[in-house]
Amino acid sequence: MTAVGLELLPRSTVLTPGPGRKRSADELKAIAEEASRRFDDRGLYGNHTEIDPAEVLAWAGETFGDALAVACSMANTVVPEMTAPHAPGVDVLFLDTGYHFSETVGVRDALAATPGLNVVDVRSPASIAEHEAVLGDRPFETDPELCCRLRKVEPLDAALSGYEAWITGVRRVDTDHRAGAGIVEWDAKHGMVKINPLVAWTLERVHNYADEHGCLLNPLLDDGYPSIGCEPCTHRVEAGADPRSGRWAGSSKTECGIHL
Ligand code: SF4
Repeated sequence: MTAVGLELLPRSTVLTPGPGRKRSADELKAIAEEASRRFDDRGLYGNHTEIDPAEVLAWAGETFGDALAVACSMANTVVPEMTAPHAPGVDVLFLDTGYHFSETVGVRDALAATPGLNVVDVRSPASIAEHEAVLGDRPFETDPELCCRLRKVEPLDAALSGYEAWITGVRRVDTDHRAGAGIVEWDAKHGMVKINPLVAWTLERVHNYADEHGCLLNPLLDDGYPSIGCEPCTHRVEAGADPRSGRWAGSSKTECGIHL
């Protein structure tokens, strides 16, 4: 891909679609560090699984109000549904890449009908046709890093610029890169607070919680896809295999880049 080709594409720019930021980066960093001492240090000396995600989310809702967003891949709806009682009307950011399974879009539509949540589709300003006209008709094969950057990373960067904190479903067991993730972190890349309330949970525990609380589970989970991303980059895995092994299978890529 040449720089000239990229210049032809409309690109995501930093916007403030959310409620905007009321505090400086220094103030937000101090909040993140204090909360990390409160939640993460307690976990370091005890058992992380003892820290109730509801306690973390109650703190998040009280601290950030409408400057809080939840990111959701629509593999399940546990994190947004857990957050809703503590942050009514919270924005739920869905990265609508244009390459999702129809099942994933179905979960997005069902969640959008859930009271107390405001699903926001975060998209590249370039249509799939424009994207493929510049990158080729299989950009997820020829340059998945660039495809992810244009369809996921840059649009999310732009969307997050309107918030002070974001909540994710990151769990330590997902990938080696996530093994050191904290419950509350300073996200230097975005200049905001990052909250990972389920960081110590297993996938099984997430699914058990969904069953017990009536949260939505993407039907693909029961069809051989324990980890779900865009359709061209997600493959079925054998029972018992690493759940993430079906993502960008056959390549060294393990992350789309939004959590790097
Ligand atoms: Fe493109 Fe695949 Fe990344 Fe989706 S996961 S944005 S299709 S490379």
